[in-house]
Amino acid sequence: MYNVSSLKAEEFISDEEIRETLAYADANKENLEVIDQILHKAKERKGLTHREASVLLACELPEKVNEIFALAEQLKKDYYGNRIVLFAPLYLSNYCVNGCVYCPYHAKNKHIARKKLTQEEIIKEVTALQDMGHKRLAIEAGEDPVNNPIDYILECIHTIYSIKHKNGAIRRVNVNIAATTVENYRKLKEAEIGTYILFQETYHRESYEKLHPTGPKHDYAYHTEAMDRAMEGGIDDVGLGVLFGLELYRYEFAGLLMHAEHLEAVHGVGPHTISVPRIKHADDIDPSAFDNSISDDIFAKICALIRIAVPYTGMIISTRESQEVRERVLPLGVSQISGASKTSVGGYAEPETPEEVTSAQFDVSDQRTLDEVVNWLIKLGYIPSFCTACYREGRTGDRFMALCKNMQILNCCHPNALMTLKEYLEDYAGDETRKIGMELIEQELKKIPNPKVKRIAAEHIHDIAEGKRDFRF
Ligand code: SAM
Repeated sequence: MYNVSSLKAEEFISDEEIRETLAYADANKENLEVIDQILHKAKERKGLTHREASVLLACELPEKVNEIFALAEQLKKDYYGNRIVLFAPLYLSNYCVNGCVYCPYHAKNKHIARKKLTQEEIIKEVTALQDMGHKRLAIEAGEDPVNNPIDYILECIHTIYSIKHKNGAIRRVNVNIAATTVENYRKLKEAEIGTYILFQETYHRESYEKLHPTGPKHDYAYHTEAMDRAMEGGIDDVGLGVLFGLELYRYEFAGLLMHAEHLEAVHGVGPHTISVPRIKHADDIDPSAFDNSISDDIFAKICALIRIAVPYTGMIISTRESQEVRERVLPLGVSQISGASKTSVGGYAEPETPEEVTSAQFDVSDQRTLDEVVNWLIKLGYIPSFCTACYREGRTGDRFMALCKNMQILNCCHPNALMTLKEYLEDYAGDETRKIGMELIEQELKKIPNPKVKRIAAEHIHDIAEGKRDFRF
């Protein structure tokens, strides 16, 4: 039944294959010969199959677990350097016809405040986001063909890109909306979106159907096959994710990697990003009602193994996680984080007060301002990056992967990170952040290997101080 190249969900995410994988992982979790072979392959930067990575996930031998973490750190440094890209979610509408039992936007929730941004409200939200320094957004909406049809989403994207407030601009809009048709994906592509993100929530079909009892999202196959339709519609950067806590994490992990292998096999390009959300408290949602929650240790191990298994896929950690947890997983392979996020509709221009009936999707753990996040990253030795160059230069899908595989990042992403950080420091940073940020840029410029790129980057950084904006390699 299992067929990585099939276009049928039940065949490329075969339940039987996952069960056999978990049995194989259990049988080999202390088999040093097998484990060492897998680690050897990973060290050669060949990535890992879902079976191989599942053995490492099952393995609890302390020495081997330490090797896994060390290798993840090394791969992260080699492929992504010390850059961390920043973004913010923008909630457009929380109207939703689905019945997802973990999400407070479910249709039966009569308590939550239902809101949908008008174009005028979007201008206010985006202005507030630009004034913080954000350049990259992920737009979010519930599924509701009447309130949030594709034309509404497209209009919002158009509005977002058109707003130029002071030196601000949103240069990349990623989209996290429900599974849709090839035709609609084509429209999103034409609207120049960055990544199309859709979390699978769970790869376990039976659980999926129970967790999504009503609404169009109930259809497991339609949801699971969405990325193939997105690719057919011309979107070549897609973002996968599992909502950890819904099902057994080892099952999800194998399914997630099988999905990545499927995209690579069929479309020649794996997922652009993988997100690792965990269930959070929200309006009428109590995370303790879900008994598959994972510890911070397991969470960190999953992050490390994603980095090892799919070295060229970016990894995203949101503000669902605390500063402490984010700090722990950053070196293990995270490439993007959100900062200063609001999960309420309209929350950037008008933050909700605790007395108000909320419109938020979940509680945010890391509540720091963007400047605090940038400051923290710099002090940890990272370069906070607001870069959006790749997709604007047409380096999406396999072209981005080629850049990553050839390790050209130091000549391309690294200077882009420095230039966009410089913009942030000039336009939005607090005094201390500006000071340590300028010092960081001086240090990091020296690391650019190509002398011509180094010279041009230094010139652009000088020009940014003179008021020019938006340089990129
Ligand atoms: N409605 C769209 C869909 O069906 O994919 C958009 C996605 S929703 C706005 C973003 C994601 O938030 C969901 O895919 C889900 O994984 C996550 N989410 C929902 N409820 C959550 C909760 N209580 N805690 C953490 N994440 C949650």
